[in-house]
Amino acid sequence: MNHHASRCCQCLLLLLALSGGSSLKAAAAGFAWLEDAESSLSAGEVRSLPAERWQGFDSQEVLNLGFSDGSFWLRVQVPPEPVNRLLEISYPLLDHVEVFWERRGALIQSHSTGDRWAFDTRPIPHRNFVFLVPSNTEPVTAYVRIQTQGSVQIPVRIVQSAEFLAQEQVSYGWQTVFVGIMLAMALYNLFVYLIVRHPTYLWYVLTVITAALVQLNLNGMLFQWLWPDLPVLNRYFTTPVIALNIIFAALFAMSFLALRRYTPFIYRIFQLVIALAGLTFLYGLFGSYQTGIVIVGIFGAIITPLAWVTGLVAWWRGQVLAGFYVLAWTPLLLGHLVLAVSKLGYIPRSFLTELAPQVGVALEVILLSFALAYRINLERRGRLQAQEHALQVQLQANQTLEARVQARTEELERANEQLKAISLTDGLTKVANRRRFDEKLHTEWQRARRRSLPLSLLLLDVDHFKQVNDELGHLVGDDCLISIAELCAGEIQRSGDLLARYGGEEFSVLLPATEEEGAHRVAERLRMVIARTPVYPGDGGAPVHLTVSVGVASMIPSEGGEPAELIQRADQALYAAKGGGRNQVRRWLSFSAYSDPARGKSGQSQ
Ligand code: GH3
Ligand code: MG
Ligand code: MG
Repeated sequence: MNHHASRCCQCLLLLLALSGGSSLKAAAAGFAWLEDAESSLSAGEVRSLPAERWQGFDSQEVLNLGFSDGSFWLRVQVPPEPVNRLLEISYPLLDHVEVFWERRGALIQSHSTGDRWAFDTRPIPHRNFVFLVPSNTEPVTAYVRIQTQGSVQIPVRIVQSAEFLAQEQVSYGWQTVFVGIMLAMALYNLFVYLIVRHPTYLWYVLTVITAALVQLNLNGMLFQWLWPDLPVLNRYFTTPVIALNIIFAALFAMSFLALRRYTPFIYRIFQLVIALAGLTFLYGLFGSYQTGIVIVGIFGAIITPLAWVTGLVAWWRGQVLAGFYVLAWTPLLLGHLVLAVSKLGYIPRSFLTELAPQVGVALEVILLSFALAYRINLERRGRLQAQEHALQVQLQANQTLEARVQARTEELERANEQLKAISLTDGLTKVANRRRFDEKLHTEWQRARRRSLPLSLLLLDVDHFKQVNDELGHLVGDDCLISIAELCAGEIQRSGDLLARYGGEEFSVLLPATEEEGAHRVAERLRMVIARTPVYPGDGGAPVHLTVSVGVASMIPSEGGEPAELIQRADQALYAAKGGGRNQVRRWLSFSAYSDPARGKSGQSQ
């Protein structure tokens, strides 16, 4: 059914690959085979078997005989041709290959080789089994005995040496490209793993390495290059390395697709697959070679489509990276499927079946490497977004903090101002206190000195205030002080002037840039308004009539002079006013006036 189609494909590819199909000429040789189930026949016995025992076949067709414990014999009848030719059996995993050349009815040459024999048993050192046709002038016949525990595939042909050489260039070139791709991807992602330390990259690298080993082993490359003197390794290599490849590919899929998150059920299946592949690995080392090969063959045939479907499921469930995975698995799926099925002997081996998995592997490895690079990009984008978010949050926090600090600072400033105002205000009368007065006197003294302006000071003392207190009580006394302060404040109009409670029931009025005459007028006004305005105490008692005595001093501050001097003069004038009978204003006259009481009286203004 499929046989016809695959044969067409095979012919097409051969035509393409061999550019001209000159091997068709070599098909003049006659091919036949027979099975020796007991492996009991010798070369001599085989040569004398009747013709009916032999079954002819076309060299275009690959003998595909499944698995067998017995031996198979090929008979290749080669007509003379005036060029050097080769007999090639291009399946390197055959265990035993013995070639007996017969000419004119006599055995002339024999070779015993196979992948259970050291590499140097091959007459021509090549990854496939290649033998020189011993005569160009006479017909010769090759009897080939093949015995193998792996799948019995016998692709045999007679090819001209020159043509073989030309094809070898293409074939070897492809192998080199393949190794290059695998090595580059493995190394690059190993470096990524070393830096990123994410297990996905490690599983990828191990998958790539084991996949490359599987392919190169199937092509006979590893035996030729790595252990040509240790054919015993071949028996222990194929099954375990395929099992390892399955394990790493499963680990990679689990990690890369985050299967545990996206599809826990398949994740379980993958765990089971890994366990079974682990057992197969051990079986490959200690069990039967033939059974091992069958198991990994079936395994490969199941796991490849399973991985592909897993990718689809993860993709369906929202794993973005799974798209790449499915894309990467598709060529490999096809390639592995073809290989696995052909290994089981269900479809004939061909150029296509051998090359397909290798091309599939190379494509997969490249696409997955791209997917891994994309994954880095995804992670970086995620990190950037998180960073940006954190930055925004921090920015907002900073702004809030700044606003709060500003609000607090303003509050504090307001409180400070209030505090300062309180600290400079008299609590009872609400006019400036003594401290404020001292500060103001100091600054006005300096200013007046710089500008040579007069500075005047009034000191007021309530007359007989002790009496008010004693008779009407302190509370009434306080009311009186408040009232006097209000009356004085009402009379002091200039903005630079300062009314202060100097202490007890004494008030002071500082009048910058005011001549003595002007100051005296102000003092007089204060005295009069107080004298004529009775105080109505808060307790509803009878109105209280009060008077004040006022001392006036005025001076233009001189260099080296002190504000205390002005106070002293005003105080002396006040003292004179008290002495003069109270309820009056006195100016300061001179120091001598106060040392001599007689002259003091003469200074009265009224
Ligand atoms: P004069 O000045 O006319 O010589 O007599 P005076 O009775 O006023 O005598 P003096 O100036 O020595 O008296 C000060 C009195 O003022 C003493 C105290 O009873 C009263 N006094 C001082 N500070 C306050 C105050 O804050 N509230 C009240 N109610 N009385 C005060
Ligand atoms: Mg007093
Ligand atoms: Mg007094």
